[in-house]
Amino acid sequence: MKHVIEGTLKFRREVLPKLSELFDRLAISQSPEVLFITCSDSRIDPNLITQTNPGELFICRNAGNIVPPHQYHAGGMTASIEYAVQALQVKDVIICGHYGCGAMGAAMDIDSLKDFPHVLDWLVHSRAAVSVIDHKYKESDPQERLDLLCERNVVLQMQHLATHPYIAARLATNEIELHGWIYDVGSGMVKAYNSPSDSFIPVEEHYEGSHHMADDVTSGVTA
Ligand SMILES: [Zn+2]
Repeated sequence: MKHVIEGTLKFRREVLPKLSELFDRLAISQSPEVLFITCSDSRIDPNLITQTNPGELFICRNAGNIVPPHQYHAGGMTASIEYAVQALQVKDVIICGHYGCGAMGAAMDIDSLKDFPHVLDWLVHSRAAVSVIDHKYKESDPQERLDLLCERNVVLQMQHLATHPYIAARLATNEIELHGWIYDVGSGMVKAYNSPSDSFIPVEEHYEGSHHMADDVTSGVTA
């Protein structure tokens, strides 16, 4: 804890003065481009892995990067997503899972959750992804099954997102785009869900030639 508190002092003393123009602007308002939904896992730093600044990503985090399907009672995720889309008018939503996700490991082994009733309840929203893995990949080894579940869970949460009325409305008019990403902590590799192939492919490949990507952006990146 000590270095965390010292860090806040160091930030104000050494870092903020160098970024005063940015923070003067941010002190007045925010206009993030992207809603970024990811896992609470401490190893993921959304701004670091996307090389973005404060103010550029509206970030929602929870165990397992889950978006509960739409229902008529308030929840933290639902309210945050609603605000990002309706008030901040974000045009892109990224759901970013990660390989080796502890929440997905638990979802595959629900007996391990007998002392975690709330986690167990929360992971209900990943059950359909677990079923896909159990059904389609029952012969695969446990590590491969976990990796596949981390990917499949991202796809499921994209489907859940599309059940929220304001998302559904904007998808129908191409005013919003949903992106499914998966991040590998060790290599820094980010893959994106490619719906035609129903698989995850490197981001540089997925966005190549799209309006999301400049021509020279992949230089120096190896797969
Ligand atoms: Zn995780």
